[in-house]
Amino acid sequence: MSLRDRLKTLIAETGPLSVAQYMTACLYDPQGGYYATRPALGARGDFITAPLVSQMFGELIGVWAVAAWEQMGRPARLRLVEMGPGDGTLMSDLLRAVRRAPEFLKAADIWLVEVSEPLKARQAEQLGAGVRWAGALHEVPDGAPLLLIANELLDCLPARQFVRTATGWAEQVIGLDAEGELAFGLTATPAASLLPDAPPGAVFEQSAAQAALGAELGRRVVADGGAALLIDYGRAEPGFGDTLQALHRHEKVDPLETPGEADLTVHADFPAVLEAARRQEAQTAILTQASFLAAMGIGARAEALLRASPGRSGSLGRQLHRLVGAEEMGELFKAACIHSPGWTPPGFEDCDP
Ligand code: SAH
Repeated sequence: MSLRDRLKTLIAETGPLSVAQYMTACLYDPQGGYYATRPALGARGDFITAPLVSQMFGELIGVWAVAAWEQMGRPARLRLVEMGPGDGTLMSDLLRAVRRAPEFLKAADIWLVEVSEPLKARQAEQLGAGVRWAGALHEVPDGAPLLLIANELLDCLPARQFVRTATGWAEQVIGLDAEGELAFGLTATPAASLLPDAPPGAVFEQSAAQAALGAELGRRVVADGGAALLIDYGRAEPGFGDTLQALHRHEKVDPLETPGEADLTVHADFPAVLEAARRQEAQTAILTQASFLAAMGIGARAEALLRASPGRSGSLGRQLHRLVGAEEMGELFKAACIHSPGWTPPGFEDCDP
């Protein structure tokens, strides 16, 4: 039975699903979920990410990782973890960039945290031996400082949505319409009194899974030392808005149209993620992607690549613009850092309180 038909049966039997439950089913269902069956990155897939735009992205994250390790006093053991490594491009570019720091590589145990079997296979092809996989962060052994990278991971973690009606907050849910098809609806919510005030029509998103990851990273860096770098599109300040989006072959589609066949995301809620980390006594900082990449030297890196192959000036210019341009990924995407107290990871010096 298709995921759509199973969801319809489930709703008919047990009632409407929250947006978070619907996202969980569409992305993670073991038979019909997007990540179990078809995650498709790249030009011929459903969506494109920064590492696929340019090799500079992963390389500069490598520069960040080595500089962070040096600032941490060059620990002899280090867990270098990427969560949600996609097709492995970011890690492959990172590893090429850090070849110049053999002691860093010697210290680093490399772990990939991935839930998608098809993507694990792509990562294995791209990265070969020398990396290990875990299905969840807690499976990566603790007891050594952590440097963790996650690009476009928070946006796949499910969120609930609340809508401010004329009479108060209601939860947005997925039920069945008169024809028995999936349809959005609203239901009363016991959470109403906990939600911030807003004018009618406002949408408030809340992701327990994103906040739980912030808390887990906070606990982990406080216990073992280290830093997590989370890059994603999303807000730096608390706010309102419906950010649920389904992408199929680079086109926005109705999120209820093709459950499990489209990539389904919400914006990262950085204020909630970072607050959850601070509650664990971790420190946090946030920058735009443009500022972070500038601090890591993207200008100089682009010039070096251009000197090496002058014929690529057009494509390099386009890549640079795509990554840092204000109307491209530069401002909408943020780079946030959760780190152990007592130091400031590279790039975040001006925004760490
Ligand atoms: N970081 C890559 C891929 C982003 S797509 C890039 O920038 O190109 C999201 C990735 O996160 C995919 O690899 C997906 O399978 C993985 N993922 C989704 N949910 C996850 C979870 N809960 N834990 C670990 N990985 C997850």
